[in-house]
Amino acid sequence: MSAPESSPDLHVIDIFMMSVKCGNCDTYQTIVGFRKEPEKNVYTYECENDVCDPNVTRTIVEVPKEFDNSTKRAEQLPYYSSEEEPEGPPE
Ligand SMILES: [Zn+2]
Repeated sequence: MSAPESSPDLHVIDIFMMSVKCGNCDTYQTIVGFRKEPEKNVYTYECENDVCDPNVTRTIVEVPKEFDNSTKRAEQLPYYSSEEEPEGPPE
C-alpha cells in the first residue's frame, strides 16, 4: 500500500468540519480565536467548562493557507479582528 505523493487531487481542509476534543475533560472544544499569518491560518480552541483551565488545555490548530477552505467563514466570526485596521496617525 503506497500513496502517491504527487496526487492530482486538491486537498483542502475545512476547519469547521473538524471536531477538536479535549483529552483532559473529554468534551469538545470551541473555536475562540482566528488569526491569519503570512503562510498559515491559526485557529484557537478552548474548553468551555469549569473543568479545564484554558491556559493548560488550549489547542492551537495551524492550517497552511493553500489548503484552508475555511478562511472566508472564519473571517466572519465575531472574534476575528482584521489586521487591516488602520492605526491612528502619530501625533
Ligand atoms: Zn478540557
